[in-house]
Amino acid sequence: MTEITSVEFEKEVLKSGKVILDFYSSECPPCEALAPKFESLAKLYGQDVKFLKIFRQKNRELADQLVVKSSPTLLFYDNGKEVGDRLTGGVKRSDIIKNLNKLLPESKVATIIAKIKPTISEYDVMILGAGPGGLTAGLYLCQAKINTVLIDIALPGGHVSTTHEVSNYPGFIEPQAGYMLSHNMSEQTKLCGTAYKVAVDVTSVDLKKREIVLDEYETVKAKKIIIATGTSPNLMGIPGEVELKGKGISYCATCDAKYYGDKEVVVIGGGNSAVEESDFISKFANKITMVHQFDAFTANKTAIERLNANQKISALLQHEPRSFKRNGDKIITEVEDLQTKEIKTLVSDGVFIFIGMKPNVQLFKNKLTLDQWGYIKTDEDMRTSFPDVFAVGDVISKKYRQITTAVADGTIAAIAIAKELN
Ligand SMILES: Cc1cc2nc3c(=O)[nH]c(=O)nc-3n(C[C@H](O)[C@H](O)[C@H](O)COP(=O)(O)OP(=O)(O)OC[C@H]3O[C@@H](n4cnc5c(N)ncnc54)[C@H](O)[C@@H]3O)c2cc1C
Repeated sequence: MTEITSVEFEKEVLKSGKVILDFYSSECPPCEALAPKFESLAKLYGQDVKFLKIFRQKNRELADQLVVKSSPTLLFYDNGKEVGDRLTGGVKRSDIIKNLNKLLPESKVATIIAKIKPTISEYDVMILGAGPGGLTAGLYLCQAKINTVLIDIALPGGHVSTTHEVSNYPGFIEPQAGYMLSHNMSEQTKLCGTAYKVAVDVTSVDLKKREIVLDEYETVKAKKIIIATGTSPNLMGIPGEVELKGKGISYCATCDAKYYGDKEVVVIGGGNSAVEESDFISKFANKITMVHQFDAFTANKTAIERLNANQKISALLQHEPRSFKRNGDKIITEVEDLQTKEIKTLVSDGVFIFIGMKPNVQLFKNKLTLDQWGYIKTDEDMRTSFPDVFAVGDVISKKYRQITTAVADGTIAAIAIAKELN
């Protein structure tokens, strides 16, 4: 693995054979998460592919020239030509391998894959999910000197990292940007000494043996497991939704509202998230049409009052979407008037869907007792029905899902576990 500067770019990248180039920055958590993966893959593929790193802050001009807009960004080159996918953000090992394999003949790939040696690591506690619940459990366990690993399929932070502003987390006078709050939570836990394995694929989970396999080769074992996997947005399940996801249909206002400056947007839903996020989207978009199945919004009073005062937002109540289609750069949403059964067509630049969440329990669904909505049942110490397996945060069966309730669950589970292990 070699560090280069923009002066060497032509010789080392454009005039070389097969190259992977990592544009990284300092003070960049996703870059830190990538570094060990990059290093271990360099050992495997290094004889056939040149592994290069370039410090983005000191080579800005080249980064701009190559339209590298975030750190880390991985670029793949074959004889001077950029090929494959550009990987950014929480880069997964499996995605890097996929792109490296595309650079090489099949026989070579088979030889390299055969060299991958399974690894095993052991901890006292493994936490699945690094949102507020998992991060808080990690902090308490670490401070109790319990050897803990936090595992996440994405980067740490959970939903908070994509929440525009948080105004109800105690200890801050002013509303906090969600990404900063989650960054601080994560850094506090990391600084304490909790191990992190993030942006990984969870290949399998064996609750009985208390071990999980990551990225198909790395086995992690622990005496106790905490499930803190949170929730994911519900899909509408109507034609066009999956096809247009990420191409005009979004589930995250913080991530995507900025792309709709002076444009028209449709928002589906009428609960707290839909109402609050519509207000946020209106900072960018010109016109927002909210489509809601009931005859009134179900959000809290303050949010509804703010919505009613917002000139940019109008509502189509007692209507339900039936399909999404793309027409040029517009999204066509077909909605049904639930009273008259008339089908109407809404033309917009983008659609945001906020129709509730579902628990992330796919990996342990048949092994744990769940409530009727699929959330994990726990006792007052956050124990699940499975011995030595705890669950915290939004994934558990409870009435109120907030950051404060998730961090409280994480605290309780960690203290209960610390008592048992000591
Ligand atoms: C749009 C929106 C706005 C919100 N605004 C507020 C607010 O203003 N105030 C407030 O108090 N609450 C708010 N909430 C609720 C709050 O974000 C949640 O209650 C809180 O994040 C729950 O924390 P958690 O740790 O349980 O789960 P999450 O934050 O959902 O984190 C779960 C983590 O688990 C990871 N994960 C998922 N599956 C796996 C797996 N199989 N293996 C490993 N990791 C996995 C995910 O990548 C994620 O990082 C908001 C929620 C949303 C969606």
